[in-house]
Amino acid sequence: MHVDVPAKVQEIYDAVLRRNPGEDEFHQAVREVLDSLAVVLGRHSEYAEMKTIERICEPERQIIFRVPWQDDSGEVQINRGFRVEFNSALGPYKGGLRFHPSVNLGIVKFLGFEQIFKNALTGMPIGGGKGGSDFDPKGRSDAEVMRFCQSFMTELYRHLGEYTDVPAGDIGVGAREIGYLFGQYKRITNRYESGVLTGKGLGWGGALVRTEATGYGAAFFAEAMMDVRGESFDGKRVVVSGSGNVAVYGIEKVHQMGGTAVACSDSSGYVVDEKGIDLDLLKQVKEVERGRIADYAERRGSASFVAGGSIWDVPCDVAIPSATQNELDGDAAGTLAGNGCRYVVEGANMPATPAAVKAFREAGVAFAPGKAANAGGVATSALEMQQNASRDRWTFEHSEARLAEIMRDIHSRCHETAEEYGSPGDLVLGANVAGFLQVAEAVHAHGLI
Ligand code: NDP
Repeated sequence: MHVDVPAKVQEIYDAVLRRNPGEDEFHQAVREVLDSLAVVLGRHSEYAEMKTIERICEPERQIIFRVPWQDDSGEVQINRGFRVEFNSALGPYKGGLRFHPSVNLGIVKFLGFEQIFKNALTGMPIGGGKGGSDFDPKGRSDAEVMRFCQSFMTELYRHLGEYTDVPAGDIGVGAREIGYLFGQYKRITNRYESGVLTGKGLGWGGALVRTEATGYGAAFFAEAMMDVRGESFDGKRVVVSGSGNVAVYGIEKVHQMGGTAVACSDSSGYVVDEKGIDLDLLKQVKEVERGRIADYAERRGSASFVAGGSIWDVPCDVAIPSATQNELDGDAAGTLAGNGCRYVVEGANMPATPAAVKAFREAGVAFAPGKAANAGGVATSALEMQQNASRDRWTFEHSEARLAEIMRDIHSRCHETAEEYGSPGDLVLGANVAGFLQVAEAVHAHGLI
């Protein structure tokens, strides 16, 4: 079968736009993958014939539900819950839950779509899914968060199972929320099914290194990128956006590897600390007190707080955007490159806009897409599932060594695939093509389903 590749790619994209109106982030994620897949269609006409890409762009199942709950003042609140079970070619749906007021179907679909390829890159037997709610945990009491989680799980539980769909955390969902969700699942089903959620507490089925995994993994990935160029973190200035789970543990590993993180942020602004971020203080402020990043600057003489503004104005050698999607645009990319930044590693999902990625490419900045660089979290979730299934518990050192090995493997696969497909050094293309090929082969093998 002869395939007019550019026309086919455009046709697929037009159909995605038409069938999913208003879902901008989902369109953006699909466009980025499609742009890489032209080279694959040129070599594999069977994927055009069997509409493999079109099938992967359509979620297997999308669940949207009402989440009613009562706040501390007795007022009834109504949120919306989502779970998009995108693709199960490689294993049960796997991907986090996000609780943030910006959550809508398009955001969940962009995250779920990315998750398919990310999970494939880990080499673990996990499919792709994502979920969440427009609930905002910020400023809510523990009791309110618990009541919300219980109501959320009262609907979601019927769609989950260790062989069906296994959620984890994401923005706004950490160990506290996973605990409440697990408790409600157990209560409704009368089953202690450890493998139904990952990111659990260490005393009840959680795995060591899961908390640290995404941030550590991004740092391991960055190290592999530098290694190819004969460099290391030693002496490098690093800027990490966000101050949540990914950012905190990214900073921790950067410091262990000899780099210095000099800035981090939250949605109200950023701090610059020329002496290097004091991790103990950062953890105290953000994890223990659930405070704001401005509180960090107030308690640390060497730090200053900048309200609003762009953290990407801070000069650095390495940038690790770890807050949220589209937080780094073309202008910010130009500023970073102009200030001498040579590595950008996405800790968050799709934090760099297409214009930013283009600017990095043109400036010769080495760039790692999130679906490769932040895959350490979900890979360690799969290791948690493995430990739950075998009733085993690995040491921190063993788990961290597995994580490091997985991240090096992902980097090698992306690097080698980019070369094989004629774009050496293009880790975006390498990640998209390597992830796609693995999923597509399984989709193909399973017949027309
Ligand atoms: P957290 O909720 O722990 O932290 C998120 C951080 O980003 C906070 O500092 C938050 O600030 C900031 N942030 C969130 N939304 C915005 C926004 N709209 N504008 C500016 N800052 C914002 O989330 P995680 O660290 O878990 O997740 C961060 C990113 O990493 C997300 O893109 C997530 O999808 C991705 N990721 C996470 C994984 C994990 O294992 N946790 C795995 C793979 C990817 P504030 O408190 O002010 O809102």
